[in-house]
Formats: sequence, C-alpha cells, structure tokens
Amino acid sequence: MGLDGEYMDKFNLEAKYLINPEGQTEDNPIFEWTGHPFTDAGLSALLLLSGKSRPEELAEKDVEIAVEFASKLYLMEGWSTLLARIYRNNNPILMVNPSMRKSATQEKLKESLRILFNLAQQNLQEPRSPTCQICGKRRIVSGLELRAAIHSKEKDRPKEITGDVFPLLGTGDLRNYFPHGQESGADVCACCLFLAQFIPIGSYVLHSERGKIKGILVIHAHPHELQLDLVSEIISKAKTSFLVNNARGFRQPVNFLFKKLQELSLTLEQLGNATVTAYYFLNGNRTGEQWVEVIRIPNPVLRFLTHAKREDYNGWKNIVRMGWREKPNNEKLEEYEKNRANDVYSRLLEGRSILAYFVDISERVVNAKWNLLKFYCSEVLGLEKEALDFIRRVGDRIVETLEKLEDNKLRQRVRELERAEKLYQFEAFFVNTEKLRQSLGIPEPLMTFDEFARILTSYGEDINVSWKTVKHLLLFRIYENLHDKLMKGGEEAEERGEIEFFGIEEVI
Ligand SMILES: [Zn+2]
Repeated sequence: MGLDGEYMDKFNLEAKYLINPEGQTEDNPIFEWTGHPFTDAGLSALLLLSGKSRPEELAEKDVEIAVEFASKLYLMEGWSTLLARIYRNNNPILMVNPSMRKSATQEKLKESLRILFNLAQQNLQEPRSPTCQICGKRRIVSGLELRAAIHSKEKDRPKEITGDVFPLLGTGDLRNYFPHGQESGADVCACCLFLAQFIPIGSYVLHSERGKIKGILVIHAHPHELQLDLVSEIISKAKTSFLVNNARGFRQPVNFLFKKLQELSLTLEQLGNATVTAYYFLNGNRTGEQWVEVIRIPNPVLRFLTHAKREDYNGWKNIVRMGWREKPNNEKLEEYEKNRANDVYSRLLEGRSILAYFVDISERVVNAKWNLLKFYCSEVLGLEKEALDFIRRVGDRIVETLEKLEDNKLRQRVRELERAEKLYQFEAFFVNTEKLRQSLGIPEPLMTFDEFARILTSYGEDINVSWKTVKHLLLFRIYENLHDKLMKGGEEAEERGEIEFFGIEEVI
C-alpha cells in the first residue's frame, strides 16, 4: 500500500501554504508544549507535518491533514510492528492488536483519531473533574469514556488509561514509569492522549542486526526550535518514503545522539542554556519489554560539543576515536560509530573526566588544540582560568627543562610522568625536574614551595582526581612541544631500562 502522488502533492501544498485558516486564537490554542517527552514528541510530529514551528499556529485543518497522513502510514509495512512496541498490543485507537489489525482500515483509524480530537476540544473546561497529570490544564478522560467514544469492540479494553494507549503507563502489576501510578489508570486528558498517538512519527527506531526493534528513541529538547531541529529528519523520511526512521542504522542510541548533536550548526549564543534529554525505551507486550533508559546531555557538554564543532572539529574527532579500545581507521570508523559504545561519550554523560583522551600516550601526540582543552577544562570540568594558566606556565617550564636533554634521557623523564599512578611518583617527577634544572644551570626554579603545594593539593576535594588532572594537562603541554623529539629513535631506546626515580626513594 502506498500514498498516491496526488494525495502527497495536496498534502505538501496545503501544509506549506495554509496558515491558520480556522482563525484559532493565540489565547486559546488547540495545542501547547507540555514539557512531557511523549506528548511533545507527538506535538513535534504534528508541527513538522504541518510545516509550522509554533503550536499556536496549528489549526484544525492541520490536524485533519496529520490524521489523514498518520492513519494511512500506520497501516503500512513496518509501522504495525512499531506500534506494538510503543503501545503494547491493545491500543484500540490505532487498532494495534493483531485481531483488530485484520479489520483495520484507514477510515477506521481516521475516525478514532478524529473522535479523540473532538473529545480533546470538549475537554477544556470542566471545573469539577480532576485535571490531566501531563498538561495540568484539561479534564481527564476515562478509559470507559474513551471506549464508548471510539466504539471499541474489545469488551475489556481500555478499562483505564494505561500503557496500551500511552507508552510506559502501567496499572496493577504492569510497570509504571510515571507519578500517580494507580489501579484506576492515569489521569490524562484526551488532548495529551491524542498527541501521544503521533509518537511513532516523532521517534527514531533502533534495530538489531537481525532487523528487530531494539528500542525507540524519543528526543526531548529545549528550546523548542532545537527540539524540532533534532526530530525533523524523522518526519521528512516519513513524508518522503513512508518508512520508519531507523536512526541511519545506528544500534547505539548514545552514539546516534552525539552524531545528531554534532551536526547542529548553532553558535554558543544560540545554544544558550539548551537542554537535551533522550528517552530510549520499549513498551512491548512481553516480559522484559517495558523499560526506559534516560540519556541526559548536560548543558556544559552541549556547549563543549558546539564549541568543538566550530573551533576544532578534527581534534574532537581524534578524541572520540580514542574512546574505542581499538582505535578505528577511516574505513572502520562508520561501523564503530554505529555499533560500539564509546568511552568518551559515556564519560561525558556520567560527568567523568575525558582529559586522558586529549593525548595519545602511545604516539606521544596531542589529539586537539590547547584551546579545545582549555574550553573543556573551564566549561565542563569547572577549572578556573587562573588555575589553568598557572598549570600551563608550569608545563612550559618543564618543557624548557626537558628539551635540553638528550633524546634518550628526555624520553625517560617523560615516561616517569606518564607512568605516575601514585601521588608520590608524581611528586618525584617534580623533584627530579627541579634537580635537573639545577644541574643544567637553569637559573629560575621550576616552582616555589607554595606553587608546588598548590599543584598537588589545590584542585578539587579528591586529591586523586585533582593531581591526575594536572598530570594530563602537563603531558598535553609536553607532547604539544616535544612530540618530534620524543618520537625520534623509535622503540629501541623506548624499551630500555626501568625508570629511575633518582633523589626520591620509593616508599610504599
Ligand atoms: Zn493533558
């Protein structure tokens, strides 16, 4: 079954040129953003299908076109399976249950959606009724009311507003991921319920290698322009090819999310305090098929990605490559991106440092420019600018010392720093470098006593994190300046002998 060209021409034409023909006023819009990821996903689909950017601009005519489109789309290949993973099996509005599917037609789906929309419009004012737990504005619809309205032939469903008609709502022994979980179902209005029927058109769908649905990815972002930007790809695919959007074949939701975020062409000013949260979930019928994983992208990470994209994209790509245990070459990169979890992404999401990934110790090379490192340290790690400048100056003095050494000795000293896993080893590196300065006749000391104390103890509560932060910054500075000298002579000299901790005894 396919949508005919004539219909699509009409659809595109109307979606593009009709602007609020029904004269819906801005004071009393049909739809509003609710702040709930699932209803907002449905609203995004409605907006993008209508070629509009603000809910206030949506008119009944737009709803009519969207209902027409969805009711046809949902009967197509691939969409039935998707519906059963988003609404379990017993959604009578979209006729998901296999026994209902047999007799499902576009007319029937269209009729149910229209009835639900009419209910939504009546539901606005009803002072004595409880209000919707999602929009907090309209009166709730009961399962019985819904069943009566859509003339459901299923005797038992829906008794309540549950996960059958709205993802991840549960009653009784079914999992419930929302507040107000209760036996009598959720307090949801017909309008939010209507929007929830458009979630399939506003979702990315990740598949397994065998082509089975692994999970559904709903992206929820603020400001709303960013939200629409992040999901527009789904709707254009549905409009042009009527296919479920398979997230470009990605099997890792986090990787896909980072890919999307890297593609944004925003400036830091435009990004502002933007937030992005993604919900990766299944709401299937079987045991183990009702779960949700929440992926939060902190604002500093969004800012860092935006900055990296604009200022040092190659550097950022090098850093990401380091996030796979085996660094992929260009040919393998796409496969890794789609299929393998990446440590850099996980660390950024978990609030753990990625400083170690700014350098490649095996090649003794930096992966990015100092400015990207600086931005990361200040925006994501929260390191003060003054502290960073201080560490940079110390790094430069170390470089000034080490560059006077013969290549072999230089490599030994740098390895001492690279291998420092305990604080006393890190201290030894400084003491040894200080001694070296004296023996080389460099007049200024490496650091004063105060500076020495500061570099070891002043950066954060957790001393193990703080001095390791300093270690990575210093290594960055050393590799940046001495890479060629360090790599000269190859492996032979590299493997020679143990590191000598002269002047400082190893004490355990
Ligand atoms: Zn509502």
